[in-house]
Parts: sequence; C-alpha cells; structure tokens
Amino acid sequence: MELNLILGPMKSGKSFEMISHFMPLSYTNINFGIYQPRKNIRDENIWSKSGLSVKAEKIDTLDEILKKNESIVGIDEIHMFEEKEARAIASLLKKGVKVFVSGLDMDYRGKMFPIVQRLFELGPQKVNYKRAVCEICKEPEAIYTQIYQNNIPITSGVPSVIPEDGTYVYRPVCYHCFRQN
Ligand SMILES: [Zn+2]
Repeated sequence: MELNLILGPMKSGKSFEMISHFMPLSYTNINFGIYQPRKNIRDENIWSKSGLSVKAEKIDTLDEILKKNESIVGIDEIHMFEEKEARAIASLLKKGVKVFVSGLDMDYRGKMFPIVQRLFELGPQKVNYKRAVCEICKEPEAIYTQIYQNNIPITSGVPSVIPEDGTYVYRPVCYHCFRQN
C-alpha cells in the first residue's frame, strides 16, 4: 500500500502531476480508476493547463471506490470531500491499493482542509507540495488560494468549498501577499 499526496494552490500543476502518473497506465493491463467529486461542476476529465487530460469518474462519496477492484486509484479535488471520508482511503490502503490524491491543501482563509489533515495522519509515503506563481508579486512561491469578488479578497463568511460558477475569482498568492481576516 502506498499513499501519495499532491497538494498545493490553484495553478500549481497538480493536474499535470496526476496525469503523468495515470496516462501511462492506460497502456498496461493494470486495473486503475480516477475519480473526482460530483460537486466539481467542470467536465468529466482532469485537464492540465498543457492541454493533456485523463478521464475521471464523478462520485458522491469515496465509499463508491471501495466497491471497485482496482490496484491503483487517483482522487482529484480531495478538498471537496468531507473529513469523515478519509476512512474510505484508509480502507483502500488496507486492501493494498496504491492511492494518489490531489487537491488544495488550504482553503481561502489559509486553513488546512480537515480531510487533508486526516490524510496526513495516515502517514503518506510521498507528499508532493506544489507551488504556483503568486499573481500579486509574481514570485514562484504561492502556497495559498485567495478568492476575490469584484477584485476584493474575501477573508470570511463563505464556505470552504465554493463552486466555480463564475461568482468568484481564484488566485494563487504567496505568504506575504495573502490577506487574512
Ligand atoms: Zn506574492
């Protein structure tokens, strides 16, 4: 069993990382699956900014993966799942499944998502911490995802997971440019 975490802010290349692990598998006989939350209103693929993509199945809960019999599993947008769903990942690992998880580690307030905390407590073998370019100072040190409404950073009052319906703009920012409540 092996747990790999690919974490970081928006635009840090997490999708590219996932695709690089899974795309070669489609040429093998290895039984694998890639999943994303149904809450993700984008299409059925995981796309990287480079234009590469892999197909991902939309699920409501991580328990749905337990019914499959796959030896390698990828889960995208992990932050959209609830904290208690970390149990399903623990069950997959116990079955010997190799699990790749990607998503935001911190919400718009700079707080770590509870499910990500639970995954760290499972003792991941690899943590790939990605950084993005800060859209304020342009240094390649962005670790936060700040959300903006009408160009003003929002520091409280909205849920941790916000659908990308166009109301808000998401920008990767560094520690020094991040605005906190
Ligand atoms: Zn900055």
